[in-house]
Amino acid sequence: MIVSPSITTAVRVAALSALDLLFPPVCVSCDRLLSDRADALVCGVCWARTARLAAPRCERCGHPSDGHACRWCPLLPAYVRAARSSCWVGPGTALAIVHALKYGGWTAVAAGMAKRMARLGFPDDVVRERTAIVPVPLARDRERERGYNQSALLGQALGESWRIPMWGDVLHRSRTTETQTRLTPEQRRHNVSGAFRAAPGVRRRLRGAHVVIVDDVVTTAATLNACAAALFDGGARIVSYATFGRAPAIGDQIDTTGELLDGNSRRH
Ligand SMILES: [Zn+2]
Ligand SMILES: [Zn+2]
Repeated sequence: MIVSPSITTAVRVAALSALDLLFPPVCVSCDRLLSDRADALVCGVCWARTARLAAPRCERCGHPSDGHACRWCPLLPAYVRAARSSCWVGPGTALAIVHALKYGGWTAVAAGMAKRMARLGFPDDVVRERTAIVPVPLARDRERERGYNQSALLGQALGESWRIPMWGDVLHRSRTTETQTRLTPEQRRHNVSGAFRAAPGVRRRLRGAHVVIVDDVVTTAATLNACAAALFDGGARIVSYATFGRAPAIGDQIDTTGELLDGNSRRH
């Protein structure tokens, strides 16, 4: 029997509506019932709870900075022009959102995260020059297990907002690396050093390009720096970073409003 596509679509829509009645959509972070599904499975309260990086921020790396020597910039190689993250990721709402995307299989969350990343205020020259987005690649076996690369989902949606292509094929992960969560900054650098390389045959595309590397979270920038080094070796002229979350660096203290607390003195 030949079933027309419109009938199968109608059946699918009906089945999904029935599922919604049985399992009404709830926020992936707080389990509240969602009034609609417009903003990617996260409720308005949770989006509002994600803590912005406090201003004033360093023009280059986007880290809260009082105009004196920036603590975060020294992490970045000279060919990295700018880095931006839309919120802090500590224990709490933003981490729950990241985990829902990364480990929970809730791929639709990427749209809401990318929407916030699209609003990041990059310097004008970055906005003018950015040629393409490159997602941090996952190890092949990890991607097979998960079924998707969360950075590529973010990169795809971000590229659509910025109207630039995502080059998902220019960077290869040449070896599997240990998960970084429990490693010290030095161990992280060692762990990912040389783990990425530019794919064969992409030099012509990369030559002279300003690429924006996308990841879900940046902690010590070890992974992003290893990707940037591979792209730079592959011919890219300059690199910027965009992530949804940023883990506070040593010395950063944040409260739930995202205000940076410096040592014991709260800055206003
Ligand atoms: Zn919520
Ligand atoms: Zn800086």
